[in-house]
Amino acid sequence: MAEIRAIEGRSVHQIQSGQVISDGLCSAVKELVENSIDANATSIEIRFKNHGLDLIEVSDNGQGIAPENFDKLALKHYTSKLRTYEDLERVTTYGFRGEALSSLCALSNLWITTATADVAPKGTKCEFHISGALKSTSVASHPRGTTVSVETLFKNLPVRKQELERNIKREFARVVSFLQAYAIVCVGVKFTVYNNPPNGKKTLLFSTKANKTTKENIANVFGAKALANLTPLDLEFEMNTPTSVLHRGREDTRNVKIVGHISRPVFGEGRQAPDRQLFFVNSRPCNLPQVARAVNEVYKSYNLTQSPFVFADLQLDTTAYDVNVSPDKRTILLHDQASLLESLKTSLTRLFDGQDQTVPAAAQS
Ligand code: ADP
Ligand code: MG
Repeated sequence: MAEIRAIEGRSVHQIQSGQVISDGLCSAVKELVENSIDANATSIEIRFKNHGLDLIEVSDNGQGIAPENFDKLALKHYTSKLRTYEDLERVTTYGFRGEALSSLCALSNLWITTATADVAPKGTKCEFHISGALKSTSVASHPRGTTVSVETLFKNLPVRKQELERNIKREFARVVSFLQAYAIVCVGVKFTVYNNPPNGKKTLLFSTKANKTTKENIANVFGAKALANLTPLDLEFEMNTPTSVLHRGREDTRNVKIVGHISRPVFGEGRQAPDRQLFFVNSRPCNLPQVARAVNEVYKSYNLTQSPFVFADLQLDTTAYDVNVSPDKRTILLHDQASLLESLKTSLTRLFDGQDQTVPAAAQS
């Protein structure tokens, strides 16, 4: 039998990087946009060349990166957002694992141009080795904020690159709906998304206007018509949390708030397909299949033939769930999910019961 040996460090890094960017184009874009939001940007521009196959570029007007951080920026598990495991319970930033930039360095040509307020517009362009170590810096003009450029994603993983190219239409559509979710939930942040197809004209895919409400964001993203017949989702309930091993025996009452918008279950007014159902936990876009099922179940008891538009943000105590399940943090473990679902169904039923479902909202006002 061959000798058992450690895998070479560089190879481990490349193997793991493929997992961090598990969902291809979506993961890459998501990580960059989340970094911009974490940097307190109020304007984020996302530009794709050839649907992201050639280039993904995310520019923000956030706080920028200080020169003393350039050499640590893309190192694995280097982050400005978390220091210890215990901090995870309180983490409110989108990122915290310090893996995204280092993984993207291993999978693409990545460079970063940035300027903090005190030096703008005299910025710096940073280039990196495949390991994430800083390769070089040069002077480059940039207003306050940061631009991250990711060229030829999966350049060294030919199978994943081919798969992405083959499915690019579908993947790109997913990226756009992903970005729409962030653009709606991030109140006060202007999103602009462009694509530059090969041999084509640069096209604006959608934009929002740093609106103060999610409702205005929905109108920007899906058009004003999408607002017709939406009712505010404003549920609040208390849940008794049984003593949970996961939480070191703490027992308390949790306050759960669910805010957002949902279609009124008026016959003929809902959407035909369940295509626009966006769920979030503390503004973090998540896959919450059970929550979605509970909402659809209640809706179906009023309107059998249609599915609602749902935009729902579950505002929970940061100890009420665990985001550290998968590197992309889209999977969330809700503690006491069963009782949360029960309370959700009861209060949603109360919301619909309290409304006159016979007349479309537009006709009432
Ligand atoms: P994480 O977001 O988990 O910290 P990343 O690899 O995504 O890890 O980013 C590493 C660090 O780089 C961040 O902690 C942050 O300090 C800095 N950074 C990344 N993107 C930006 C940005 N757009 N603006 C300012 N700082 C950034
Ligand atoms: Mg990050």
